[in-house]
Amino acid sequence: MKTIDSLGYSIFFQNQFASLNRFLKERSYSKVFILTDRNTGEQCLPVLIAGMPVDFEYDIIEVDPGEENKNIDFCIGIWKMLLDFGADRNSLLINLGGGVVTDMGGFAASTFKRGIDFVQMPTTLLSQVDASVGGKTGIDMDSVKNIIGTFTQPQAVFINADFLKTLSKRQLISGYAEMIKHAFIFDADYFQEVKGIDFDDIDEELIYRSVEIKNKVVTQDPKEQGLRKILNFGHTIGHAVETYSLNRDANPLLHGEAIAIGMICEAYLSYQYNGLKEGQLAEIVKALRSIFPDYQLKSESFSDLIAIMKNDKKNTDDNIGFALLKEIGHCDFNHYLDEDKIKSALTYYQETVSE
Ligand code: NAD
Repeated sequence: MKTIDSLGYSIFFQNQFASLNRFLKERSYSKVFILTDRNTGEQCLPVLIAGMPVDFEYDIIEVDPGEENKNIDFCIGIWKMLLDFGADRNSLLINLGGGVVTDMGGFAASTFKRGIDFVQMPTTLLSQVDASVGGKTGIDMDSVKNIIGTFTQPQAVFINADFLKTLSKRQLISGYAEMIKHAFIFDADYFQEVKGIDFDDIDEELIYRSVEIKNKVVTQDPKEQGLRKILNFGHTIGHAVETYSLNRDANPLLHGEAIAIGMICEAYLSYQYNGLKEGQLAEIVKALRSIFPDYQLKSESFSDLIAIMKNDKKNTDDNIGFALLKEIGHCDFNHYLDEDKIKSALTYYQETVSE
């Protein structure tokens, strides 16, 4: 059995169902609830049930899939179901789904009756390598992502790469952005390995390595007061591109697709202002462009993108905060750059994809 120790709980790999079963026996919860969305209810719940003993007793709570449903209305729905089905303080919520389910389920559990236990069983690549680790729970409000939430650690996380078999290639690639980001910010050797990923059969060892990196960062800085900011590499510009695309494009970019654009721009800023070597910038751009589709970033969008970045809670005054690479495998944070510098990075992206 392979595990990673996190902030008071374990992240289990391999034989996850045996581990879950053992966990349930040890804890003897009064009731077990499984939260799914419609897709994970169809694709993943039967796999979970088949892996558990026949006497495994549970109630199911199902929500509609998608970020647009990660809101207070669905959260109230979850609280009501918990209440109607008689959940008490000794109940457990198993969140079986992508980041929407693990974030919203974590939030619902952390607030119901002042907090009941929950475990994360992430079913997308993004949620396995990122969302389910670190204790951030939350919901969106008025199109502001994760604006309501808590820092609450789960009781355990169970990661099973088999769940990824039913996930679309586009979703897999989106999740990959966070994996390769972990390599860029923390581990040059891992970069060499993760570059060769096979999306048709993702090696659980690569997921393990990625979780190990995220875990090392969040255990040193659980409440994002310092080091944890390096996880934002690619996200200052990437989030703005994601929001912009969501508002404008008929087929908007997925989170990871936008973050890949952000990483190209911020690698350029790292080269300009943080000593990243030109050859490493080229390596990063090549690795990302070999996987992620190019995006037409129009010059007319630059002012809107900057305005979105300025709205971001992480920024002070007129300058915008970045985590930048020093070299592949090493990142630092609290670089504040002005508009012209950011526009030069957006122009760099434009020129790179038009070559
Ligand atoms: P998601 O949960 O919306 O899942 C993407 C889609 O895949 C959904 O339609 C879902 O129903 C479907 N799906 C999930 N698992 C499946 C499977 N095994 N087979 C088939 N379909 C499946 O999105 P996501 O990308 O997993 O997560 C995005 C969310 O994660 C965002 O809300 C983001 O804010 C959050 N997030 C949180 C953290 C954190 O630290 N808490 C970190 C990163 C992202």
